Amino acid sequence: MSPTLRSAIDTAAGGRQRAVIYCRISQDRTGANLGVDRQREDCEALAERNGWDVVEVYVDNDVSAFSGKLRKDYRRMLADLELGTATIVIAWHTDRLHRSPTELEEYIDLSERRGVSTHTCQAGSIDLSSPSGRMTARILGAVARQESEHKGHRVAAARRQKAKAGEWSGGIRPFGWGVPTGETKKKTVKGTGEEVDVPVLNMTKLIPEEGAALEVGSDMILSGGSIRGWVRWLANKGLLSTTGKAIEPPAARDLLLRPRNAGIAVYQGEEIGRGLWEAAVPEPKFRAVVAILTNPDRVTTTGSQPKWLGSLIYRCGRAGCTATARCTKVGGSKQPSYRCQADHGGGRNADRLDRYIVDLLVDRLSQPDAVDLLEPAPDGINAAALQLESEQIRRRLTDLAGLFGSGQITMAQFTEGSDTARAQLEGVTSQLARAAVTDPLVGLVGVPDVRAAWDACDLGRQRAVLRSLLEVILHPPRPGRMPDGGYFDYEAIETRWKR
Ligand SMILES: [Zn+2]
Repeated sequence: MSPTLRSAIDTAAGGRQRAVIYCRISQDRTGANLGVDRQREDCEALAERNGWDVVEVYVDNDVSAFSGKLRKDYRRMLADLELGTATIVIAWHTDRLHRSPTELEEYIDLSERRGVSTHTCQAGSIDLSSPSGRMTARILGAVARQESEHKGHRVAAARRQKAKAGEWSGGIRPFGWGVPTGETKKKTVKGTGEEVDVPVLNMTKLIPEEGAALEVGSDMILSGGSIRGWVRWLANKGLLSTTGKAIEPPAARDLLLRPRNAGIAVYQGEEIGRGLWEAAVPEPKFRAVVAILTNPDRVTTTGSQPKWLGSLIYRCGRAGCTATARCTKVGGSKQPSYRCQADHGGGRNADRLDRYIVDLLVDRLSQPDAVDLLEPAPDGINAAALQLESEQIRRRLTDLAGLFGSGQITMAQFTEGSDTARAQLEGVTSQLARAAVTDPLVGLVGVPDVRAAWDACDLGRQRAVLRSLLEVILHPPRPGRMPDGGYFDYEAIETRWKR
């Protein structure tokens, strides 16, 4: 029986419609710590306004919305409704009533059979006898589970939508986007109340120089460069932050870690799918940059960034020593020199040693067969297929949420399914990252002037080349003058090609 028919019968019978109130104390999102008294008062006011007779008030106290605890009064209410005690249920919010999709379906079933209509103080009336009413209730249930913060459903949904559309609600624009449209809008200046014209920006369009800078930064990281290297590049190009300041390393790192760069929308720290704006870098590249920058084993680039080619790469050749050498200025000597970190004496003139190693590297990279040094793309990695797979897994996660929201799967099934999907996604992402990492030798072999190409690389890139190509072991130098007349013992420098 439909609620409308039922109410017509009740009215025809001359009686006022009978209502029951259901209150629940919980630590749910909506109305956390909202006392029973407050819920009850609001519900009674609603009954008053509509001229309903409240015949019973049910109260349950459970702390978690997801606990399987039996709600005694809730069960009692369902039994009473089954007997026809009332045709109207009043609750402060739908999430007071149902804690899981299963409970919601049971409730819908009962409402349909007994012609019960549901009214809430917060979300209005829900006609569970109509398909659209049922859908609303299911969506409300799903949203309640997804939103963990104390904001209204509508506000949250609207913000999600805005995040996806890349809408900018004013404030500082994100580096990379915001091409002036030529239009202006009025804005009131805080404090003075003065009205000024501010330019309207198109947030879906990349600003060419800034977009290119994001791609350059990503490429630098992928080919072994450093955040500091990119910061210097930005400074050389005269590119500033969107507040007009020089971009410092921590901010630069954050810029490269934004999913926005790859056209991915984020809401409350979670990726929610593709945004509607132009991407600055392809997604595999972005994932790879994230994998590299967030790798805990990454040699940090803050503070003590090596200033010399071989610092912490050249190894000590003293028997049994596994330490690397570091460049220091020791004692009265103004000459920087490499020394074993375990202090195995005998510093090596840093300029001379680095020049020697660079000559070796450039010479090797200039050989006709140097292109063979390039590492083949990782075997069997098909970036396009991986990309597709990652999108499919993301879609499956969304589907699972939908199934759970509509009560077709249980909380346990939902959790299990999404855990599996997330683990798969992690695997695919790390493979994608490997596929996108560029061999540091790319651009250094097969070019007409290897020396010039080398000189154009920043130190981070040069160190990456050294690390991937050559092992340098510093044996204890012979004392005194060498046969070549100098004091530098080249024979004590052992080198082994890695490729
Ligand atoms: Zn040593």
